[in-house]
Amino acid sequence: MEKIVIIGAGLTGLSAAYHLEKQGFYNYKIFEKESEPGGLCRSIHQDGFTFDYTGHLLHIGDQYFRSLIQSVVGTKNFNLIKRKSFIFSHDTYTHYPFQVNLRGLPTNIISDCIEGFINKKNYKHPLSKTIFYYWALKHFGRGMAKHFFFPYQKKIFCYDLKKLSTSWMGRFVPKTSLDQIIEGITQDPEEKNIGYNSQFYYPKKDGINYWVQKFAETLKNPIHISHHVKYVDLKNKAVIFSNGTTENFTKLITTMPLNILLRSLKEPSNSFLKSKHHKLLCNSVLNFNLGIDRPNISDMHWAYFPEKKYPFYRMGFYHNFSNSLVPKNHSSLYGEISYRSASAQKKENLILNGKNAAKNILNFSDKNIATEKILDIKPAYVIYDRWRDKNLSKIHRRLNEDSVHSIGRYGEWKYSSMQEAILDGKQTVEKILPRKN
Ligand SMILES: Cc1cc2nc3c(=O)[nH]c(=O)nc-3n(C[C@H](O)[C@H](O)[C@H](O)COP(=O)(O)OP(=O)(O)OC[C@H]3O[C@@H](n4cnc5c(N)ncnc54)[C@H](O)[C@@H]3O)c2cc1C
Repeated sequence: MEKIVIIGAGLTGLSAAYHLEKQGFYNYKIFEKESEPGGLCRSIHQDGFTFDYTGHLLHIGDQYFRSLIQSVVGTKNFNLIKRKSFIFSHDTYTHYPFQVNLRGLPTNIISDCIEGFINKKNYKHPLSKTIFYYWALKHFGRGMAKHFFFPYQKKIFCYDLKKLSTSWMGRFVPKTSLDQIIEGITQDPEEKNIGYNSQFYYPKKDGINYWVQKFAETLKNPIHISHHVKYVDLKNKAVIFSNGTTENFTKLITTMPLNILLRSLKEPSNSFLKSKHHKLLCNSVLNFNLGIDRPNISDMHWAYFPEKKYPFYRMGFYHNFSNSLVPKNHSSLYGEISYRSASAQKKENLILNGKNAAKNILNFSDKNIATEKILDIKPAYVIYDRWRDKNLSKIHRRLNEDSVHSIGRYGEWKYSSMQEAILDGKQTVEKILPRKN
């Protein structure tokens, strides 16, 4: 008889469980290493403030996802918000996205960007389809690459852009035309509906975890929290927990990070897979969350910071997502700093520098900080290099042969959203448990 084990009760694992139950299949167990479900979509309540594991905004682009949100939570429990997002460079805020909102930047920077954009037609490089560095030069030209794309992507990924593949980009980097660029210089800046995130939903109360918690509560089977999977034994089809207990499966759905899964495979039968774990690259994000004892410290939702002198690549403002996230007459913010590897001391310095930069930019002092919460998110962004492009599907095929389905943002080793986490869980269930007619 089929027995399914799910590792991880983040959004993808919860979605797999939900869709199994929707098909009337209850012979499954879901295990989570933390003391609560939610994964990256948890929220922290502290001193009257609510912080997420850095800003998490809900973008609904898929009809099935919309109907699921509607039936499980009801969109009336969300604020629907039109994005107010900016880029801070050369001491100027310009509207996001950079490529169509140059107005306000110093004249020499605008000229660089236009000249580069016009001359890009002459740019030829054999890797301009596959490698981000050359792709950016081909599609945006030297000026925009230099003033935004290179410093920003280097900061977020902490990786050599000449080795970064283009396969992550999809909807994330909207292209532009000369007409749009000129319009963005000559006309008053306004938020244009460009990009996948021009508007977003955010729960009216309790942070992003509000809807994820409601989703988890729909499950009939229990979620086995505080169960850390230490080994996966493919030969005997069993997961082994750090407390020494074991659970057998006929099929395994795992959402734990793929590199850790490969490392956790029990020898001797899996040396091919196991040896690949260190080839999967990723970064981590230090997320500092601050509660501020002043109202409206900013009216933005978030801003990007490409310049090196600011340690964070992005800063956002929870109080503008929902006023329930802060006490009356207070504000709150999050800063995100990427790193690849760092000692405890280096991380402390990064956070200190990040907080100092936030204080200068927003004009507040230590005295205004009512509370703070530092989170270390790892992995955060997986790195799309050529090795990943060439080998990832082979790894998944090998795992599938052993009835293991590694899915979700880190299980598939990809750059994806909450919506995709739900769809990943659904599609996997449809694949491994064909609907009976
Ligand atoms: C910086 C950042 C910002 C983001 N912003 C947004 C946003 O604004 N909007 C958006 O839609 N998406 C955003 N995302 C993406 C979103 O967080 C993810 O797509 C989604 O949460 C992935 O869910 P998941 O279940 O696949 O992974 P996770 O949330 O990582 O869940 C995996 C679960 O597995 C558990 N687990 C791991 N190892 C083990 C083990 N050995 N044993 C048992 N359990 C284990 C973990 O504790 C976790 O609960 C962001 C992500 C990051 C990093």
